[in-house]
Amino acid sequence: MYKLQQPPLLFESSRPGRSTAVLPGPDVPDAPLDDLIPPEHRAAEPPPIPELGELDVVRHYVNLSTLNMSIDSNFYPLGSCTMKYNPKRNERLAATSGFGAQHPYQDESTLQGILSILYELQSILAEIAGLDAVSLQPAAGAQGELTALLTAARYFRERGEKRRQVLIPDSAHGTNPASAHLSGFEAVTIKSDARGLVDLADFKAKLSSDTAVFMMTNPNTLGLFDPQISEIAELLHGQGGLLYLDGANMNAILGIVRPGDMGVDLMHYNPHKTFSGPHGGGGPGAGPIAVRKMLAPFLPAPLVARRDDGRFALDYDRPHSIGRVRSFFGNTGVLFRAYCYIRTQGPDGLKRIAQHAVLNANYLKALVEDVFPVPHEGRCMHEFVASARNMAKDRGVRAMDVAKRLIDYNVHAPTVYFPLIVPEALMIEPTESESRETLESFAGTLRTIAAEDPEVLHAAPHTTPITRPDEVRAAKQPVLTWRKA
Ligand SMILES: *Cc1c(COP(=O)(O)O)cnc(C)c1O
Repeated sequence: MYKLQQPPLLFESSRPGRSTAVLPGPDVPDAPLDDLIPPEHRAAEPPPIPELGELDVVRHYVNLSTLNMSIDSNFYPLGSCTMKYNPKRNERLAATSGFGAQHPYQDESTLQGILSILYELQSILAEIAGLDAVSLQPAAGAQGELTALLTAARYFRERGEKRRQVLIPDSAHGTNPASAHLSGFEAVTIKSDARGLVDLADFKAKLSSDTAVFMMTNPNTLGLFDPQISEIAELLHGQGGLLYLDGANMNAILGIVRPGDMGVDLMHYNPHKTFSGPHGGGGPGAGPIAVRKMLAPFLPAPLVARRDDGRFALDYDRPHSIGRVRSFFGNTGVLFRAYCYIRTQGPDGLKRIAQHAVLNANYLKALVEDVFPVPHEGRCMHEFVASARNMAKDRGVRAMDVAKRLIDYNVHAPTVYFPLIVPEALMIEPTESESRETLESFAGTLRTIAAEDPEVLHAAPHTTPITRPDEVRAAKQPVLTWRKA
């Protein structure tokens, strides 16, 4: 099997005196170095810089760029993350100088274009949510959760209510309890039942006049739609609580059903998951939130408003607002791409996205579930969670081995070991943008891997320069600088 060599560092390829083009020297004197960098801020010696020919530099970076997987190069079924195709036209539009070269300190009169787009996006996201008001400010899904919960906390405070608890299902994304905690609430776990849905008895037992918010993900992280949502909303509202929807992944219900119509009071979106924002490498994202009317006064300032004379403006005059959660008016680049995506799809297109996301996931599930069983029965939505438990028991092959081996077949690994309630979980989300042939080929690959020698799988991947890094150390103690030995 072909094994990639780990490429040498530029410092290792460096040879003294080697350089790229030699340009004629300047015909004006250099500025004195002491004027540019005061001596106390300079090292005694200039730092070493690798010396290479231009061709070697070009090859170095081009080859490095090919070591990564991306949605543009490989199938990427990373459950919950929705690695759908990001249409290139949105990139082109976002780079148009009128948008790309704007500065947030420009006078509002020169920002009417982007403000009108953000204003319209607020209305569109309110319409998709079936809710009344939207803040585009949060910079990511997790910050959207936090902002929405702070908004809810302010709502209860203004009503003179002291509610301390936020209820969260055990299948929820880890950001949910983190957001509840950070916004000053106590996170209380609600069990899932045997079907993988909210355990209604446990919910009823823990629901009280101390419940501020119930955070629901629907479809949940098992890829299942919980039909109890309206009943849950009714019980919750009966106790004066608010229903939150973690709408990070709206792909299965977009244009099919509106959260507000199911009883949801507040929610966040992840435009980078639902509306094709590129999100490899951890960002940038956005986390707009939508809320019901009674929560609108507490949203972060500013909102984008339309004045009586038709001009668009940033509205800071919001006396009940929780304040700012991010500089300026949000990650406008991501929001702008979301706007382009939504407007090119139109209402019918959004609905087709949901239909195809669900169709693709169910087709793929049907192709693989005899080998990788899906513990929770029933039709899935945009994703499904299979288990490698039998393989682990019978042959000692774990979900991580399958994930690592997929890399050898040029497929990005699915999400593994999440949600926590499925042992040896493989969380697979094909997205609507994949063809039938890609899905069938992936299913074939999974079946091939399931029949492979466990020894081969334990040592996978075999085709990458690095095989199995210590993932905890890589995340907690990254070595990001090179030092001359
Ligand atoms: C991705 C995700 C989040 C967090 O979104 P970020 O933008 O990564 O902060 C929250 N909930 C669910 C269900 C998600 O899939």
